[in-house]
Amino acid sequence: MKFGGTSVGDAQAISRLVAVVRDAPADQRVVVVSAMAGVTDQRQEGMLQSATGAPDHACSLAHELLSRHAATAKELALRDGKALVDEIETLLQGYLTLCESVAVLGETTPRALEHAMSLGERLSARLVAAALQTEGVESQPVEATRLIVTDDRFGNAAPLLEPSRARLQRHLAPTLEAGTVPVVTGFLGATQEGVTTTLGRGGSDYSAALIGALLECDEVWIWTDVDGVMSADPRLVPDARSIQVLSYREVSELAYFGARVLHPKTIRPVMEAGIPLRVKNTFNPDHPGTLVVPHHQQNGGAVKAVTAIPEVSLITVEGKGMLGVPGIAARTFGAVARTGTSVLLISQASSEQSICFAVPRASGAGAVEALNREFAIELARRDIDRVWAQEPITIVTVVGAGMRATPGVAGKVFSATGVRGINVVAIAQGSSECSISLAVEARQGVEALHALHALTQET
Ligand code: ADP
Ligand code: ASP
Ligand code: MG
Repeated sequence: MKFGGTSVGDAQAISRLVAVVRDAPADQRVVVVSAMAGVTDQRQEGMLQSATGAPDHACSLAHELLSRHAATAKELALRDGKALVDEIETLLQGYLTLCESVAVLGETTPRALEHAMSLGERLSARLVAAALQTEGVESQPVEATRLIVTDDRFGNAAPLLEPSRARLQRHLAPTLEAGTVPVVTGFLGATQEGVTTTLGRGGSDYSAALIGALLECDEVWIWTDVDGVMSADPRLVPDARSIQVLSYREVSELAYFGARVLHPKTIRPVMEAGIPLRVKNTFNPDHPGTLVVPHHQQNGGAVKAVTAIPEVSLITVEGKGMLGVPGIAARTFGAVARTGTSVLLISQASSEQSICFAVPRASGAGAVEALNREFAIELARRDIDRVWAQEPITIVTVVGAGMRATPGVAGKVFSATGVRGINVVAIAQGSSECSISLAVEARQGVEALHALHALTQET
């Protein structure tokens, strides 16, 4: 069971968490926690400010963090509250020393940043374990740096499965057999050498899925602050509904195309292990939430949900001289890949005269520059007329199994946007048969989301 930032955000939330864990219908339970909401952002901000030579801001943020955790510990009337606050203070001292060093050096390294970013989960795991213990649930905080072995891509590390499996067996199995609930720090791992890494922002969901798969758990439950996966982000579309059942494929598309409720990498481990995944609301635990299962429910090809990725650049390489010339696409994507940019979507053009794809806006200018270099000769010869970026763009995606195989769905999608005068700049069809993405100008993004949400049907 993984609990997100709001689910560990204050004493009331942690009390709910304790009740959920205590009442869970399982003999053996592993808890994975995020940092308290907002804490990871603050750690990052503190480090970046320190790198400009101003550690004072980091210092005041650290004090704020200490008082937030100490106040929560007090409100929860923890049995060993004093010892816990002392331990938190020691961890914060380490963080402050790091900020001071960064301020002296005038720069931060990826490794130092990872260390700072790990602090929130390390504090919340201790707090939650103490809360469980106080309420009579045998519990123990566990550092994921001892369990999840990763490569050294700081900020977006990839887990190494076999060494992680061995570590989990060695360190968690005995705890579970003894009837103790381990409270594992989400989001974190460490290299073979023991250097702390993080799995990417929002990565605690992924931690839980990995641990669940590697320990061959019966189910993985993601506890968050909404009633499961919904037909749209309820913060943007107030009449969004929760969806009872989705397939791995559908939920993967939703997560990939921007539904923050699950980190996109969460699905693969549970899918490969065939483990059901549930998404539930810590603040409304009686609601069934969403169950994610292996197979599609066709439901006549209904649109089930809609999601959006803002802040995108749509890049086009175009020219009449590209027609029939082999290798242009390979060179285009090769040049973009070398800038370290991942392509979000490729739009299929009906002719060979243009290639169009989307990248995060922050990478747009770099990608255009790389393409201008790659095609310098073709541009000079006018075989390629131009390489250009259109931005800001929002990608809006509709998801539903079997949707694309059902006649008329694409028509409905285009008339829903058309009648509102929304200009669709590009279209892409997911390879998995269950999504259609539209690129629209950012100023029409939310309107497009509403227009397409009106097509969703209860399933
Ligand atoms: P946690 O801290 O529990 O991981 P997140 O903030 O990362 O929580 O994710 C939950 C949030 O995801 C919700 O509060 C909601 O605003 C947002 N969200 C975006 N799209 C969806 C969706 N399709 N269904 C449910 N929530 C969504
Ligand atoms: N605390 C981390 C973050 O804010 C991980 C998570 O919340 O899942 O990105
Ligand atoms: Mg999250």
